[in-house]
Amino acid sequence: MEKKNIDWSNLGFGYIKTDKRYISLYKDGKWDDGVMSEDDTIKLSECAGVLQYAQTIFEGLKAYTTEQGKIVTFRPDLNASRMKDSAARLEMPVFPEDRFVDAVVKTVRENAAYVPPYGSGATLYLRPYMFGSNPVIGVKPADEYQFRVFATPVGPYFKGGAKPITIKVSDFDRAAPNGTGNIKAGLNYAMSLHAIVTAHKEGFDENMYLDPGTRTKVEETGGANFLFITKDKKVVTPKSNSILPSITRRSLVHVAKEYLGLEVEEREVLFDEVKDFAECGLCGTAAVISPVGKIVDHGKEICFPSGMEDMGAVTKKLYDTLTGIQMGRIEAPEGWIKEIEL
Ligand SMILES: *Cc1c(COP(=O)(O)O)cnc(C)c1O
Repeated sequence: MEKKNIDWSNLGFGYIKTDKRYISLYKDGKWDDGVMSEDDTIKLSECAGVLQYAQTIFEGLKAYTTEQGKIVTFRPDLNASRMKDSAARLEMPVFPEDRFVDAVVKTVRENAAYVPPYGSGATLYLRPYMFGSNPVIGVKPADEYQFRVFATPVGPYFKGGAKPITIKVSDFDRAAPNGTGNIKAGLNYAMSLHAIVTAHKEGFDENMYLDPGTRTKVEETGGANFLFITKDKKVVTPKSNSILPSITRRSLVHVAKEYLGLEVEEREVLFDEVKDFAECGLCGTAAVISPVGKIVDHGKEICFPSGMEDMGAVTKKLYDTLTGIQMGRIEAPEGWIKEIEL
């Protein structure tokens, strides 16, 4: 297979159309068999449920080339099961989990020429998503849906090293108590746009959201979960029912315990204790871990001892171990790496 002529290391994070996408339609109470299509456009009713009432959910994962030259994805079964939970919460039909994984595999296979080579730092980003497609004007769930997966090549997340970022404590909330914070719904991102544009205008990289009920506990950022390291090298990660259950965070917790022998606490984290932590990172598929150097709460600065130049030492160990597992340099736990047979 001939790779596309792309400058992999200098790719950004933008949409690039690839050759094929997976499409399955839901109608009369069932999903059809699904097809691969070259058409990157969608024709919809002006009154489609997704356009009027935002009935849409998504997932995000990556395909990449390992050290052994295999094309793989990382724990796609967890994306399938999280999408099932998202669908249930928005009254959408579930796309069967085995078919989800199969759709991901097909999309990677038919766009294999876009999977970046090992060592480039680039990956093929996969975007499974589902939306209500038939006309809905009275407020109710749609009767027809589309489940799709497209792929787009994206560049290395850290160009020239993982520099720690500065984040602010947001005055906005990303999720309501008992709302939809724990599912991957487009509506959560629509909510976060004003907050992130505001943060960027003020010179911050990201927002820290507090729990919407009491605003005393740490939740997450717009698209990544928090991981803190205590001065005695314990890993602490916030627990809340309005946090999106990050697959990267859950994998890092396993790595911390089983590979690095670290103690892990998944519990409520008061904002007041953040100043006592030694290191802080954000975890998600895109970066695996982004180090946080500084958190600013209305002018009051919390500067982590790890500083603004490098990832903290424990964070770095977690990062190196998980990326080593993903890239085939370190043995993976059973079932974590899904090889795509070409
Ligand atoms: C997708 C997402 C994450 C990261 O989840 P991963 O499965 O690790 O990619 C974290 N927070 C929010 C709000 C998200 O939407």
